[in-house]
Amino acid sequence: MDFYKNTLSNMQKSAKIMKLDSEVLETLSHPQKTLIVSVPVRMDDGSLKVFEGYRIQHSELRGPFKGGFRYLPDVCLDEIKALATEMSFKCAVVGIPYGGAKGGIKCNAKEMSQGELERLTRKYVQAVYQIVGPEHDIPAPDMYTNSQIMAWFMDEYSRLVNKYQPGVVTGKPIEVGGSLGRDSATAQGGVYVLQDYLNTLDEKDRKKDYKVIVQGFGNAGMHAADILHGLGFTIVGVSDSRGGLYNAEGLDVQQVIKDKKTKGSVTECNEGKCLKPHEILEQPCDILVLAAMENQVIEENMKHIKADILLELANGPTSFEADEYLNKKGVVIIPDILANAGGVTVSYFEWLQNQQSYYWPLEEVKVKLKRIMQESFARVNKFQKEYKCSMREAAYISAYDRLEKAMKLRGSGANLRCKIYR
Ligand code: NAD
Repeated sequence: MDFYKNTLSNMQKSAKIMKLDSEVLETLSHPQKTLIVSVPVRMDDGSLKVFEGYRIQHSELRGPFKGGFRYLPDVCLDEIKALATEMSFKCAVVGIPYGGAKGGIKCNAKEMSQGELERLTRKYVQAVYQIVGPEHDIPAPDMYTNSQIMAWFMDEYSRLVNKYQPGVVTGKPIEVGGSLGRDSATAQGGVYVLQDYLNTLDEKDRKKDYKVIVQGFGNAGMHAADILHGLGFTIVGVSDSRGGLYNAEGLDVQQVIKDKKTKGSVTECNEGKCLKPHEILEQPCDILVLAAMENQVIEENMKHIKADILLELANGPTSFEADEYLNKKGVVIIPDILANAGGVTVSYFEWLQNQQSYYWPLEEVKVKLKRIMQESFARVNKFQKEYKCSMREAAYISAYDRLEKAMKLRGSGANLRCKIYR
């Protein structure tokens, strides 16, 4: 099943469980705006290449649109649609005053020079700047986009509107309006939720030593491995796009991070056995942290998953079919719209700091993030008990509850749909 159908199936299932007003489901099943742009870029060899870019604004019921943008060769409209939709639900799960959006450009960032990436980013801003802005739509990093790309985005936008606008984008470097704690926020938020979930278990069901595999070793995965290792979890496996690394006795995470940063892949580390990328998912462990991309645990491999707990730091890593199968088997899945919401939460903090031109110490960011993640988990847990459903269904119900109230309070005119085509 494709990613967008997957998202719609999750939405429909939860809507049915809570007997949601069908107009709410219908409205949220369509993004408000879809923009497709052509992004012409002068390449280093002098040639001109035109890339296709997207920005989808799903819903602004609860505040300005918010969501990252990614640079991937096979990114497509349906994928961005799914991610934009999930952002509306994610912001509602953690109760931060944003709607949902997402963007992307079809390109291979790994093969582009810094100069080409800068020109691509600036051209993308020129193409979308009329629909973004600190009060309208606030992008952020996602796959293969980083703080440097956010700095270029902010600079180009500020130039176009002729005033310094750090709040147009989050995930910036600290020196140009970034927030302390943003780089590790997605992982940290997921770890807070995981710890809270483990605390709900009876003493007899708790383990002294949890063995963890982390799929994906970028912003979300690397920080997750580092934080969990620091808390005493044993990291037995990691992977990136080139392959996996497994050692049942536990990996030296600092060494893996060092090798990933200096040699480009976790497979360059001599700490364990090297595996093909997909093989890492099927190795023995207690907790599988999914921090790579969508559609990783699917019908083809769901029967080989050995973990008891899945922590979804990536968006949409478990297909609808695999989710149903694993739930029946008793595997606990901490769903993306809750597990990875720490990223957008600290993005919200960054935006608040930009609005005030007043910057918070790291401790303040961490305390505020922890409180929001813990309250969000408790609220999801309450709905899970009330509806006797999975954590994913409860997370959607928790979000619907807030989205429906906003829709009813604002009235039907609040969600006027407007599509923009190239
Ligand atoms: P990133 O670009 O920093 O890292 C992605 C990592 O995944 C890289 O290590 C890459 O090698 C690896 N990867 C790609 N394909 C893989 C495969 N088939 N098998 C194993 N590893 C593979 O991206 P990121 O920001 O860490 O994002 C990862 C996921 O987390 C995405 O789904 C993203 O949408 C989600 N997410 C990120 C944030 C954030 O703040 N960065 C917030 C919420 C959700």
